[in-house]
Amino acid sequence: MNTPQPSSTPPLMELRNIYQTFKLDSGRKIKVLQDINLSVNDAEVLVLLGPSGSGKSTCLRVLAGLLEPSQGKVLLNDQKLVGANQNIALVFQSFALLPWLNVADNVAMGIKPQALPPDEVSKRVKRAIDLVGLEGFEEAYPKELSGGMKQRVGFARALVMERPILCLDEPFSALDVLTAETLRKEVLNLWLSKQTSIRSIVLITHNISEAVSMGGRILVMGSNPGQIRYSIKNDLPYPRDEKNAAFKSLVESIHDLLTEAIIPDTPDWIPPALAANTIESLPHVSLTEVVGFLDLLLQEGGRADAFGLAQKLMKDSLNVLIMAKAAELLDFVDTPKNQVVLTDLGKTFIKSDINLRKKMIHERMMQLKLIQLFYQNLLNHEDLAISKEDAIQSIHEWLPNENPEEVFDTVVQWARFGELFGYNDDTQQVYIDRGEA
Ligand code: ADP
Ligand code: MG
Repeated sequence: MNTPQPSSTPPLMELRNIYQTFKLDSGRKIKVLQDINLSVNDAEVLVLLGPSGSGKSTCLRVLAGLLEPSQGKVLLNDQKLVGANQNIALVFQSFALLPWLNVADNVAMGIKPQALPPDEVSKRVKRAIDLVGLEGFEEAYPKELSGGMKQRVGFARALVMERPILCLDEPFSALDVLTAETLRKEVLNLWLSKQTSIRSIVLITHNISEAVSMGGRILVMGSNPGQIRYSIKNDLPYPRDEKNAAFKSLVESIHDLLTEAIIPDTPDWIPPALAANTIESLPHVSLTEVVGFLDLLLQEGGRADAFGLAQKLMKDSLNVLIMAKAAELLDFVDTPKNQVVLTDLGKTFIKSDINLRKKMIHERMMQLKLIQLFYQNLLNHEDLAISKEDAIQSIHEWLPNENPEEVFDTVVQWARFGELFGYNDDTQQVYIDRGEA
């Protein structure tokens, strides 16, 4: 099959120098997008690939005109976008169907605001339902449908709008592997077949294989604040085969780029926890998961590549990289290239009983600047306690680009494990046991 040929027309849409800051209820601000520049060209599948929290959905909301950016320009056919973008149809991970409406009425919701004549509505609804292979299910209700069928309704509701840009926010990630694969192929075929209004697709994902199987251009995003780090062109012909050598090699190189983005490996790189003026955040992952990860690494002989570990753990490779980063912060692993290697300390840790493990976590955590600051903060209070609100305020001052609530939750979870300090859910206070201090 041939890819729709890009015409010499200007981009369908552009984001120029977009910055986004959110003000939290407490009045604190977090920087979520930094200097985002991208264009959605005619006749392409553009992928935004990045870890959770890197601002992908926020970019999409800006593109869709659902969120006015703090700074920067949004252009639609070279004109400033005003209000909701009438050229975009959206599909979400959560399906977002109305349970009290049947399939046909859920699909018709897509064109409800247009107040079309009833004949035109039923014609367009029927066509959209046929395109996604749901003929015969018009009268069914969402609760009677499988996940895959629900998402077909989600796609039909977008197709019925007959818009040129289809924006997909992780639409396959709530589906089982086989259903996801089938739907991906069908969506690509719809686009390639040119039977619909869709000129271009913007796909958001954190799945590298999905990005490579669908994307013509892949923008790799990094976090804190969300930014575009790399743009990769993908000319592999459709349909793409995951087992093909070129496919695999592209997946691996993107994997390396993401590893580099998440765990820098430059010779002069100093672990941020040790750099005098840098405060390293804690990766948002539970220590129980990190322990499971170290266990598997030991079974693998103490060394494995992050990609293989991801497959064994049935996790996304980005999740595994974040676990590797957490383990590295604790000095339990090294991460040369995309290898993860258990250190001697890591081996001792994983072979120890729970009490020794807690003691080791305690000692390692006390080496981290963020924890030292946190601990000092507690010691500065006569009752050795601070409110959650004050703790979050401090975290925000130390790490202005992080989501302070998320960091707080991680610090508390790790600190409980290492018995550094406790947190009382009722009084919402962090405290040091007088005995411990
Ligand atoms: P992704 O889709 O890549 O997972 P998002 O764009 O959903 O990332 O979110 C990026 C960051 O912005 C997250 O830290 C999230 O908590 C924060 N965020 C998103 N929307 C809001 C909002 N309305 N108010 C405050 N913070 C937000
Ligand atoms: Mg998202």
